[in-house]
Amino acid sequence: MEKSEKSRCVKKMFDVNYDFDITLPHSGWNRTMEDIAKAFDREAKDFNDFINQHTNWRGCVHLSVVRDIRDSCSSCGCEWEPYTDEENGELYCAGCGAEVEGEQDG
Ligand SMILES: [Zn+2]
Repeated sequence: MEKSEKSRCVKKMFDVNYDFDITLPHSGWNRTMEDIAKAFDREAKDFNDFINQHTNWRGCVHLSVVRDIRDSCSSCGCEWEPYTDEENGELYCAGCGAEVEGEQDG
């Protein structure tokens, strides 16, 4: 490259992949997250069965359900974030201030 050549920004495709956009009608205020997850499990199985039986994508495409499970407070449902009171040394939930029982396991 000659010194007089200057660089500029150009569009370049570095990789290509599939992006599945899935919208399933399983939301609802009266259903628990576990109800919805189980419905997703059933539909994912139906989808995978269909792919394996009726397409040439057998072994290439697999739909699986991802459950986002995190430690949370049993009182307020916030993500688990205990803090120690400087004065009495007790643990409390940072979300609702409830005292934390027992010892922490993690
Ligand atoms: Zn809490």
